[in-house]
Amino acid sequence: MPLPAQTPVGGALDAPDKREYSCRSLADTNSQLIFILAHSLLLLQTVAALISYPPAGPLPGWLEREAFLMGTTLRIVAELPDSASGAPTLEPAFDAVRRLEASLSTWREDSDLALLNRSPVGHPRAIPPAVYHLLGEVRRWTERTGGAFDPAVGALVDAWDLRGTGRHPSPEALERARRASGLTRFAWDDPTATVARREAEAWLDSGGFGKGAALRLVRDALRAAGIPRAFADFGGQWLAIGGRSDENPWPVAVAHPARRDKAVAWVGLRDASIATSGQSERSVRVGDTRLGHILDPRTGRPVSAWGSVTVLAQDPLAADVLATALFVLGPAEGLRWAEANDVAALFLVARDGRLERRASRLMRGHLLDDPTSGKE
Ligand code: AMP
Ligand code: MG
Repeated sequence: MPLPAQTPVGGALDAPDKREYSCRSLADTNSQLIFILAHSLLLLQTVAALISYPPAGPLPGWLEREAFLMGTTLRIVAELPDSASGAPTLEPAFDAVRRLEASLSTWREDSDLALLNRSPVGHPRAIPPAVYHLLGEVRRWTERTGGAFDPAVGALVDAWDLRGTGRHPSPEALERARRASGLTRFAWDDPTATVARREAEAWLDSGGFGKGAALRLVRDALRAAGIPRAFADFGGQWLAIGGRSDENPWPVAVAHPARRDKAVAWVGLRDASIATSGQSERSVRVGDTRLGHILDPRTGRPVSAWGSVTVLAQDPLAADVLATALFVLGPAEGLRWAEANDVAALFLVARDGRLERRASRLMRGHLLDDPTSGKE
């Protein structure tokens, strides 16, 4: 499928059946590419509905809302069910994410996770059951990925000062941080849903799974509201309810790992989520080196910026976790893991100025076009 023409669509979006819509500038990011496409599709749909006369019934309404959550923007475009009576329909989805952020954020001091992260060493702390359950799921992913995905990387984040200006830790400091990292530095007690820290420097970072957990709540809220089709973009992770139409999935652009404005692949999304992990999004420069924000818990070091991994999964949490885990494993081991575990994954590997595209068997079934640069 060719790239969509980047035509301004704002004016046409003022069509009468749009209950709420906003124009936006057409800056060329991955996120905007797909929203431009989504907008164009809505326009086409509206035109198609207007010319089919007599209309079969009231035109379905589409709604778009966005809010700043979890340090990024959550945008939802949704087709409202005929029975819906206006804007409040999307609110439960945003409320659910707001509540999750209040529980999981490690950027504020009062979240459940932040309080656990500051709790006295050796003292079990009660966690709300839903959060404990979520952390249990994440722990199972840590086991399944052989520790490539491990939210207990907090001590390493501190050692490399990844939330500040970055630093190269001394060998002693790195060793200390490694000893304070990993889920085994926490004592989990399922019957009481309590967690105790075992090391003063150990803390849990929700950065690798929070958006996926949030999009799962968005999916559930939209389905509960009877929304037949929707598309959500949460800082680069996507969620689709239904397809673009009964016949076609939503096309999602996968950006070049180093050039976010360049689409290098298209993936079809229907009732699923797609997440991408790489080092180009967030990194800090220390002297001559760039330290990416994804750490290899097995070495305690930031993973090199070798490219990116995009994972498609029905469960948004799985997509988020697995994109991070497969990025840590790297293109060779990661692809083997994806094949062995039936994961739809696309590895974009930057090598000698070229970009290689390696798709797992399951991902190949979702790709919408052939690469123009790189090879399978
Ligand atoms: P993502 O952008 O989903 O790949 O998640 C990256 C974020 O997860 C980082 O910014 C850290 O907050 C956290 N993180 C870093 N390394 C890991 C890891 N190996 N496992 C789990 N979370 C990680
Ligand atoms: Mg992730």
